[in-house]
Amino acid sequence: MSPTTSKPEESALPKSISCDVAIVGYGPVGMVLSGLLAQRGFNVIVVERHHTLYPLARAGHYDGETMRTFQALGVADAVEIAAQPMLLWNLVTADMEVLATIHLGEGGAGWKESYLSYQPEIEKILDARARELGVTVYNGVEALQIDQSADRATVTCRPVDDENAELTVIDAAFVIGADGANSFVRESLGIERAQLGFAPMDSLVIDFKLNDSDRELDRLPEVLQVLDPERPQLAGRWEGRNYSRFEFILHEGEDAEEFAAIENCWKLLEMWDLSPADGEIERGIVYRFEATLAPEWRDGRILLAGDAAHTMPPTMGQGLCSGIRDAINLVWKLDAVLRDQAEVSFLDTVHSERSAHVQHLIEMCVGLGEMWNTRDLESAHRRDEMLRMGNVPPAPAFPRLGAGIVAAETDHSLIVDGRPAPQGRVAFGGQADRLDEFASGWQIVSRHALPDGLFSAGQQSVLDELEFGFSHVSRGPGPDYYIDVDGEYELWFRKHGVRAFIQRPDKYVFGAVAELTDLPALVDALGSSLEDAGWKFAFEREAVDSDDISVVGSARIPYPETVDFSHASDAAEQLFTSFFSAKTRRKINETHVHFHPDQVYYADATLGWHWDTNEELRGVWKQYMPFWKSTAKSYPVQVAGDTTTGAAVVVTDTPELFGGEIRAIAIIDFADEKITRWIDYWDGRGFGSDAVSKMRTPAENFPDTVGEDTVDDRHAPEMAKAVDALMRAIASGDAAQLDKILAYDATFEDFALRTQLRGSAAIARYIKRASGRLPYQGADVIHIVGNAQGGGFEWMPATPAAPRGAAIVTLNETGKVTSLGITYDGAALDDDQIITLSGLAVEPRR
Ligand SMILES: Cc1cc2nc3c(=O)[nH]c(=O)nc-3n(C[C@H](O)[C@H](O)[C@H](O)COP(=O)(O)OP(=O)(O)OC[C@H]3O[C@@H](n4cnc5c(N)ncnc54)[C@H](O)[C@@H]3O)c2cc1C
Repeated sequence: MSPTTSKPEESALPKSISCDVAIVGYGPVGMVLSGLLAQRGFNVIVVERHHTLYPLARAGHYDGETMRTFQALGVADAVEIAAQPMLLWNLVTADMEVLATIHLGEGGAGWKESYLSYQPEIEKILDARARELGVTVYNGVEALQIDQSADRATVTCRPVDDENAELTVIDAAFVIGADGANSFVRESLGIERAQLGFAPMDSLVIDFKLNDSDRELDRLPEVLQVLDPERPQLAGRWEGRNYSRFEFILHEGEDAEEFAAIENCWKLLEMWDLSPADGEIERGIVYRFEATLAPEWRDGRILLAGDAAHTMPPTMGQGLCSGIRDAINLVWKLDAVLRDQAEVSFLDTVHSERSAHVQHLIEMCVGLGEMWNTRDLESAHRRDEMLRMGNVPPAPAFPRLGAGIVAAETDHSLIVDGRPAPQGRVAFGGQADRLDEFASGWQIVSRHALPDGLFSAGQQSVLDELEFGFSHVSRGPGPDYYIDVDGEYELWFRKHGVRAFIQRPDKYVFGAVAELTDLPALVDALGSSLEDAGWKFAFEREAVDSDDISVVGSARIPYPETVDFSHASDAAEQLFTSFFSAKTRRKINETHVHFHPDQVYYADATLGWHWDTNEELRGVWKQYMPFWKSTAKSYPVQVAGDTTTGAAVVVTDTPELFGGEIRAIAIIDFADEKITRWIDYWDGRGFGSDAVSKMRTPAENFPDTVGEDTVDDRHAPEMAKAVDALMRAIASGDAAQLDKILAYDATFEDFALRTQLRGSAAIARYIKRASGRLPYQGADVIHIVGNAQGGGFEWMPATPAAPRGAAIVTLNETGKVTSLGITYDGAALDDDQIITLSGLAVEPRR
């Protein structure tokens, strides 16, 4: 089943050799790294234990950003011919019902968003280019030992076929382990990878070579993600022009060898109408996928890159793309260190920038995989319904680089700092091409010409030392302009509200400014950032006041700051600000850290969904959060209570999160300042009654409780007293009694009826008029949270048909109720009931 690959001419291995950089491993990351370093003039030696290029495909998908690095290496055109763009991704059921179609198009990096290719064909191109650039590759040679001193590092190696051969020592300024997931270099350094909460997954990968690559396959027009809880799979015209890829996830306990047997492979391909008459199975192998991250990527002069530093499930086809990102990030920094422009410690920014990016990406892959590959019928049903409703996960917002040579420290989706710079087609001197073809290295890319004398002498020295280029990309033709041929720069500048940005040598944005007059401060910020990380400027930099450095888009809170914290403790204000900021920024770990590690109950009382453990809840964030649109927001509108006795929060979730607007009251319990129980109550009518009825747990399985007995009652006595009096007065419809409990200027809002009343007497009269018809009248209070300032409570209705609900309550210093907000699922009441109840809010003529 394995194709043969011609053996490259092997260079004889001398006894000792010296070079600038020695690389262990000549997979795709080793090839790109070595080629990019050789392109910069360094002497690079690679040892690879295989005699030939690896003949089997693993990666099938590359993104546009990877193509941009191939462009830098000078092979993008050749790769483009071997690959094919991926334009459609259909999510289908086992019966081939198309639940959603994801369209992939132009990627912004100057290339298509995604490409499909056959890895051995791509590796051939990369290998030829690396050798052409002067890289020396020793095939059939295994690294056996890595050592280092203060200023050199060595790789001791030997031909794989000759145990008795003399050992060779390669002496280098730096050694890079690009030696894959089971990295020998990483193990030599004693670096243990962290497992990132993903149970290893076995998957049978079949590569199929079609006899006629021009032939249409009716069942397989493009790439299909089969959302089949019985056997999740991926299938597609997936590998370049001639090959198709099929991936089948194994059940726990399934025998990998039996499953990968050729007869079984053919059997599995039957569903795609493929038989030996159509082509050849190149191979069927079971791979085990893991999510791992090395905590360190550098030890002195020894570095890790690619799978040696991280692995991830294949869900988004990003493992190799991530390794190529490591390569382009590392190369310009290593260049600076090798040229003595920066301390060796400057290389630590590779880890700080890249590992945060990889970790976020792994979380996205795991979350997406859990959603697509779930075996749980109920979750699969919910997912399918959401997709049928058109609630398709938008293209995930890609992570940005972690801290390093990046201007903005805060993170939200609008920030361009630490993200790939745009690349569009420009024209200059009568020639049109992508901008990178004209401009490389550090660049200021601006929409308008920079005014003369913009920079101080000190700033100019920074620009000179870094050999900055200036790319003025404009609509209009002019002597020093690049013409923005497709208008892509114009669109990008407008979309982000900026007029210029600093582009790093690896084509990432350092920072951007709204006005050209802010550029000098951004250059100062760059100088400081480089210097702090270990750059050795050849001149004395002026001291810079960091307050002068204004960075676009570094807003502290990523949602409207209209929240009423007047009846919340300082601790509650801090906690909920932190929680909702992280949630709106789609930060899984930073959101989840607010929950108690050992005790969690989280429920949606309207839909009857619940998650009973910390791990399950984490799975929910991972499943949904990475796919929220960048405009999605979840934020508090009112908070009452504290982080000891519990709190009630009025929450707004904008429609981009779940497909409809949610305005909920959440009842929240704590232990050790961590959330132990969180229950959301909301009105399904606002979201869309039909959509809610599809998502709601069917009546026969609808939970009877909301986990109220999973936590202790910790509320203050003032809250218990107020709630008890309030509910007794409401139950009896006793207006006089109610008037006594409410503060004179109390407010009352029924979220489901959309009624609002002001003043204790008006509220009391309404309750009396509506008496006997309100869903919370006579209900059992099942749980109370809050302190003497306020909090909330939950009720179960007296009649099973009525909805359950929750309320947020604020109290004054005498214990009277100053506000009462109440919600429940109005979709559980019929239209007449709703109209009657809200009509009763109108004061009759008296
Ligand atoms: C089935 C499958 C599908 C995938 N799909 C995608 C996808 O669509 N898109 C994507 O981006 N990624 C994908 N990936 C991930 C991708 O294949 C890897 O991330 C990528 O190959 C890693 O490249 P690398 O160069 O870091 O490591 P490798 O490709 O593993 O190369 C490491 C090299 O080091 C050599 N080596 C190891 N130890 C020594 C030693 N002691 N001495 C000398 N040489 C040594 C090995 O022989 C090997 O050639 C997929 C992976 C699998 C398994």
